[in-house]
Amino acid sequence: MEPTFLIRTFGCQMNEHDSERIGGLLMADGMAPTEVADDARVIVLNTCAIRENADNKLYGNLGHLKPLKERRPDLRIVVAGCLAQKDQGLIQRKAPWVDVVVGTHALPQLLDLLRRSETDGPQMDVREYTEVFPSALPAARADAFRAWVSIAVGCDNACTFCIVPLVRGVQRSRPIGEILAEVQGLAARGVVEVTLLGQNVNTYGRDLSVPGSSRRPLFARLLREVNAIDAIRRIRFTSPHPHDFTPDVIDAMAECDDVCEHIHFPLQSGSDRILRAMQRSYRRERYLDWLGRIRAAIPDVAVSTDIIVGFPGETEEDFRETLDVVERAGFDSAYQFQYSPRPGTRAATMDGQVPKAVVQDRFDRLVTLQEAISLAKSRAQVGRTVEVLVEGDGRRRGSTQARTRTNRIVHLPEPIVPGTFVQARVTDAAAHHLTGEVVAEQVSVGV
Ligand code: SAM
Ligand code: SF4
Repeated sequence: MEPTFLIRTFGCQMNEHDSERIGGLLMADGMAPTEVADDARVIVLNTCAIRENADNKLYGNLGHLKPLKERRPDLRIVVAGCLAQKDQGLIQRKAPWVDVVVGTHALPQLLDLLRRSETDGPQMDVREYTEVFPSALPAARADAFRAWVSIAVGCDNACTFCIVPLVRGVQRSRPIGEILAEVQGLAARGVVEVTLLGQNVNTYGRDLSVPGSSRRPLFARLLREVNAIDAIRRIRFTSPHPHDFTPDVIDAMAECDDVCEHIHFPLQSGSDRILRAMQRSYRRERYLDWLGRIRAAIPDVAVSTDIIVGFPGETEEDFRETLDVVERAGFDSAYQFQYSPRPGTRAATMDGQVPKAVVQDRFDRLVTLQEAISLAKSRAQVGRTVEVLVEGDGRRRGSTQARTRTNRIVHLPEPIVPGTFVQARVTDAAAHHLTGEVVAEQVSVGV
């Protein structure tokens, strides 16, 4: 029987994407995936460093793995991802039973590190710079019909709360030809939906130069070129920065039929004072103005956001300004976060850290407001007929989960093959999902 591996992924889509590559590398090396830790020859924890509980989760998980490693010394334990990049040697000092620590720029080295750990003991490779994009590695994809495509890594901004620039480095864009070749290859294999991934996707290309040309391939051009690939019917991207939604990007979104009518537009705070302290480059009115322009150019566009509650120095007045912007913006959905000081970031040492009970109270109020807005936005969909792409089984036996172009989940009552496009009529709505009935089914793809 072939040896098996198990990957546990924490955090964002970037990590999910890296996990697909880790799985792909291990499968190319003759291993098979398992969900049973007791059977696994290799266990990988692909970590996130964005919030505090990420550290606790990692060390808690490693504690659970210790007795397993004692019973089976041939088990290989790997820590990958942003905490590996951030904590480096600390991980093996705290948990000496970890065999390999592999940073965010060193994934291609994984198999070598595993082999070396068998003969030479614990290994670590945490480098400063990405040489090979994770997308260039083999993948073990969860779905046959949709795929993530990495277009850039790192971030050149310096938001004072954020650890990303420290663990993912400065922005490095992938050459446009390489991205398009990957998307064409995916399309040829039946993929119909791609999500372009980067820490700050809409600054794509600013660090690239093309020999013999003064024009850099920027994000708007990338959208247009991916849109020209026939078999791809849905294009998504994450995560963009509001500041970089330049008119050319909005025009490209509006003009490209396959670019989905959904944008993630991270607000972080509705208070100008806090936005300044966060080192976010826009202010509340500017943000709302940009949002208005996007909505005017792309009818029915759905908007999601990220909001941090309890940033150092945030007063009740600042928080009310956030509630005010949330009301005026009318987000379809929002990810709300309680501020978590990340060692190494500027905000971690700022005065005025907000007490936990105050943060919790504000957080609960924000969630209540946003739930009501999300519900109203969902209810406005009832009665419409929309195109959905089937993703897999629903929560109820025999049911199906699908997704609209605007990124809303729709539950359908009957089983349908994943990868099928369906016209569905929305019959009911909750804050975070819709219920629908099939009006017409289209071809199955990617199976
Ligand atoms: N590049 C994106 C942007 O500019 O908005 C953000 C990517 S970050 C991985 C995802 C979200 O995590 C952020 O938008 C922010 O709301 C949240 N986040 C980041 N650092 C945080 C911290 N220290 N505490 C709480 N939330 C945080
Ligand atoms: Fe972090 Fe996003 Fe700011 Fe970059 S733009 S520093 S990834 S929050």
